[in-house]
Amino acid sequence: MADSLPQVRLYNSLTRRTEPLQPLQPGKVSVYTCGSTVYKYAHIGNLRTYLFGDLLHRTLEYTGYEVRYVKNITDVGHMRNDDHDSLAGEDKVEQAATLEGKSPAEIADFYTDAWLEDEALLNILPVDVMPKATDHIPEMIALTVQLISNGLAYDVDGTIYFDVSAFPAYGQLSGQKVDEMRAGHRVEIEDDKRDPADFALWKRAREHRLMKWPSPWGDGFPGWHIECSAMSIKHLGERFDIHTGGIDLKFPHHEDEIAQSEGVLGHPVVSVWMHGEFLTLADAKMAKSAGNIIRVADLPAKGYEPLAFRYLALTAHYRSKLEFTDDAMHAAASGLARLRRAASANDEPIDLSDEAMARYRSRFADAVADDLATPKALATAHEVASASDLTDAQRRAVLLDFDRVLGLSLDAPAAAKAPLPEGAAELLERRAAAREARDFAASDALRDELAALGVEVRDAATGQETTVLSM
Ligand code: AMP
Ligand code: ZN
Repeated sequence: MADSLPQVRLYNSLTRRTEPLQPLQPGKVSVYTCGSTVYKYAHIGNLRTYLFGDLLHRTLEYTGYEVRYVKNITDVGHMRNDDHDSLAGEDKVEQAATLEGKSPAEIADFYTDAWLEDEALLNILPVDVMPKATDHIPEMIALTVQLISNGLAYDVDGTIYFDVSAFPAYGQLSGQKVDEMRAGHRVEIEDDKRDPADFALWKRAREHRLMKWPSPWGDGFPGWHIECSAMSIKHLGERFDIHTGGIDLKFPHHEDEIAQSEGVLGHPVVSVWMHGEFLTLADAKMAKSAGNIIRVADLPAKGYEPLAFRYLALTAHYRSKLEFTDDAMHAAASGLARLRRAASANDEPIDLSDEAMARYRSRFADAVADDLATPKALATAHEVASASDLTDAQRRAVLLDFDRVLGLSLDAPAAAKAPLPEGAAELLERRAAAREARDFAASDALRDELAALGVEVRDAATGQETTVLSM
C-alpha cells in the first residue's frame, strides 16, 4: 500500500457521476455482487464481470479498507425470458435438470463448483459469504409479505406482483419512465398483471414444477430479483456501500431490487451501484444461451494461460466494452510475460517507501483509486518493469506490491519461449528487411512461409513478435 492513501472515487450508475467513496462505517466497505445462475458453465464474459468485482475488492483492500464481500449463487427463479417476467418462461436451473436427467440441486452444485474453479484459475479472491437463493426462501417470503402490507404488491391467483405505479422512484437507476417501459413490453406474452411494467416477486408453481415451497399464497417459488434483495439485506444489513453486476443487470434486475428493498425499508439501501461492460466475441454478445461460449478452463487448450485473460481484462476500463480476439490474447500473454520477467530478480530486503519506489507506487494507487483505471495502472507497471532508476530487486518488490491488485501471479516464472524451428530466424530477418523497404507483398509471403513452419508472427511497436505453435 502506498504511504499516503488516495481517496477512492467510483462511478455511481445511480447518480451517473464519479464520486468519492464515503463508506457507512469509516475504514470498512460492504460489497454485494450478483453471482452466477448455476445452470450452465460460466463463460469468459461472465468471468469478466467477476474479475471487475475482484478488482474492486483488491483495490479497496490495497487502499486500506477492510472489505466484507458477499456474492450470491442463483440456483432458482432466474427464468429464460426474464426481461418480460413471463410466467410462461421456464426456470433455467429446472430446465437444465430436466435436460441432463439430474435434480436441480445436483445441477446447481455441479455448475457452482465449475464456476468457482474458473474463478480460482483467474486468481479471483474468495469472498466472505456466498449465499444460495434456495437457502433464503423464508426471507424472500417475509419481504413479499411486507411489500403487500405496505401497499406495494398484489396477489393474482398465488402470484405476487410488485405494483410499480405505487413506487415513484421506479426507473431512476436505468433512467427510464414507466410509460416508456410499458410501451416496450410485448402484450401477447403478458400474464395477469395489472400493468405490463409490474414484475413478479413470487410465482405460483405450475403442475410438474420441481422446485417449489409453501407460502401464504400456496406453493410457489421466488422471482429472481427478490432473491438479491433478501440475500443482500440479510448478509450486509439494511444499508450497505456498493452493489455490482454486469451492465445488463441494471434493468430490470437492479431496478427491481431497489424497488423491493426500499419498498420494504423505506430508505435507500445501496450507496453506490457499479456496472461492468460486456466482453464481446467477434462482435456478438456472449450469452450462455447463445452458442458462442468459451470457458476459462478451455483457455489452456487454445494455447492461453488463464491469467493472460485476467491481464486482457485489465487492459480495458471496466466500463468499456472489450473484445476477445486472438491478437488481443497474444498481446496480453506477452505483456504478462514481460512483467513476470521484470519481477524475476532474487528477493532482497527492500524498503518500499524509498523515494523512487514511492513515486511509482503512488501513481499506481492513484490510478486504481480513480474508478479502477487499470489501463493506467498497467502502464505504470510497465514503466516500473523498465525503470532505470530502480534496481532489479526494487523492480521486483514494486511489481509484487502492485500484484496485490493486479492478481497476475507476477511471482510465477515467465513462460519459457519455445525455440524457433530451423530456418525461421533467417525468414524473420528477411521479413524485417522487407517491411523496412515497405515491400508488404514480400513481407506477407514470408509470413506465410513462417506459418508453414509453425511460427506465427505479429508486428508490434517493438518489432516482430513470434509464437511457436506446437504442430
Ligand atoms: P448470469 O449467470 O447469466 O446471471 O450472469 C452472471 C453475470 O455475468 C451477470 O453480472 C451478467 O451481467 C454478466 N455477463 C453476462 N454476459 C456477459 C458478457 N458477455 N460480458 C460481461 N459480463 C457478462
Ligand atoms: Zn442480483
